[in-house]
Amino acid sequence: MRGVMLYGPGDVRVEDRPEPAIQGPTDAIVRLAATCICGSDLWPYRGIDTFDLPVPFGHEYAGTVEEVGSEVRTVRPGQFVIGSFFASDNTCEICRAGYQSSCVHRQGVGGAQAQRMRVPLADGTLVATPEAPSEDLVPSLLAASDVLGTGWFAAVAAEAGPGKTVAVVGDGAVGLLGVLAANQLGAERVIAMSRHDTRQKLALDFGATDIVTERGDDGVERVKDLTNGLGAHSVIEAVGTQESMMQAIRCTRPGGHVGYVGVAHGVELPGRELFFSHVHLHGGPAPVRRFLPELIELIYARRVDPGRVFDLELPLDQAAEGYRAMDERRAIKALLWP
Ligand SMILES: [Zn+2]
Repeated sequence: MRGVMLYGPGDVRVEDRPEPAIQGPTDAIVRLAATCICGSDLWPYRGIDTFDLPVPFGHEYAGTVEEVGSEVRTVRPGQFVIGSFFASDNTCEICRAGYQSSCVHRQGVGGAQAQRMRVPLADGTLVATPEAPSEDLVPSLLAASDVLGTGWFAAVAAEAGPGKTVAVVGDGAVGLLGVLAANQLGAERVIAMSRHDTRQKLALDFGATDIVTERGDDGVERVKDLTNGLGAHSVIEAVGTQESMMQAIRCTRPGGHVGYVGVAHGVELPGRELFFSHVHLHGGPAPVRRFLPELIELIYARRVDPGRVFDLELPLDQAAEGYRAMDERRAIKALLWP
């Protein structure tokens, strides 16, 4: 089968790889209907994150179950399923509290930029759709695997809801879907922070009511201008840098909530400023599994169209071009058809 390997900074290759096989009794083998490139894949692509290379790449997936291990009970071959980047048993105390991405048995799921993949803890990890989806729903179901689930968690962690003003720091796919989530959760006002025309337009389509083009301290001032000098009730942080995290904290009113989902790189919080801010911080790797049943329902009912974040679609064999386009910010998010 064909699959993406990361060899080093800027060096992505699509190669013939061994077919995945059942290794443990809780495994499932999934044939991908579609896969994609994540903003977080750009950290290692840019050489900022380092690990042993080459490595099979990708962690967003939706597709059809082909085979299951001997202990798999609820997932069956032929079902269309979606899972997340951490496999979870969905039964431990942490999972039952809604934090499946910190499951006591969690395992990373990788190698999703391929024609087939192995998913461990299949019963706890995979959620089947009510029926095989029509092809036009596949991009949205794939988005639920990570970016929609992550944007949704950020909005929930930021306590977005009726009567709230929500500000969103970051105009990548997660930030844009944080806008969608805040809107779906009933936020009164959603301020998207973006300086890019096409991203601003998508944010407005997803329910943003205001656009702020400034960033850093100027961006904070603009959000305060829009909120009677108080700051937003809820702020989504979807970047992961020192600047974006401080922008998020400073955009938040006393008593407000920051939902942070950008993978932190070099972020150090100043204790004294945090102490006097009176801001709640809640975030981390999104427990996408918690939200999947609800998100699948919304997508099947065609009440949301998160697949619109894919503004570039390529055959899997052209994955390298997808990485380049996202790295150069020519594309918001690239979908790969296996
Ligand atoms: Zn668990």
